[in-house]
Amino acid sequence: MRVVVISDIHANLHALEAVLGAIDRDPPDEIWCLGDLVGYGPRPNEAVDEVRRRAKVCLVGNHDLGVIGALEIDEFAPDAAVAAQWTQTVLLDEHRVFLESLSPEAKLEGAELYHGSPRDPVWEYVISEETARDALEATLAPIVLVGHSHVALAVGLSGSTLSGELAPDGMEVALDEARWLLNPGSVGQPRDGDPRAAWLELDLDQAKALFHREAYDIARTQEELRERELPEALAERLAHGV
Ligand code: ZN
Repeated sequence: MRVVVISDIHANLHALEAVLGAIDRDPPDEIWCLGDLVGYGPRPNEAVDEVRRRAKVCLVGNHDLGVIGALEIDEFAPDAAVAAQWTQTVLLDEHRVFLESLSPEAKLEGAELYHGSPRDPVWEYVISEETARDALEATLAPIVLVGHSHVALAVGLSGSTLSGELAPDGMEVALDEARWLLNPGSVGQPRDGDPRAAWLELDLDQAKALFHREAYDIARTQEELRERELPEALAERLAHGV
């Protein structure tokens, strides 16, 4: 089975379309989404609509929960809060109902999925060596998938030896050499210095994972943010991948 894993789309339709276009050149058996479909970005309805139609498994993220009122928006950073409040005013009811139906975690055969981390599926960032080790030790599945940090990452645990690194475009991981914690990176707001949309391919038959990046028309998303008078910093950061 081949699976594509996407995360943190954040209502960036042009980034999502670029990733789906790349995926469609060699369609996988399933698409899994690790949450944060909305928040920050200018096209929440279209982003939810696409993911709903295409993803076999979809988690909910902290921004989705803020937008549907299940989390207090005042826990968000100021620009994120402005975008979440704007999203609340435009999100269609059917998409709200869909987001309300989702969980921030899922256990599948061979993989555990969390928006944040196993001990805090909504809020915790798995970005340090310590949090990665904790996440792997708190789980049993051979593959643990997390989103939320917007940083593509591959950390392996073999015995008690942890080895990990940022996962740039083209990086390949041998899934049978360790248990792995993998973060596909963010489709709609990458923060690892590469502004291109991130996605992850899992070939479970070949026991390999492959990290991908896709260029998209960043200027179009920036224009849409400005048309909606969303914070300028949200447009600016897209150009730098921060
Ligand atoms: Zn996010």
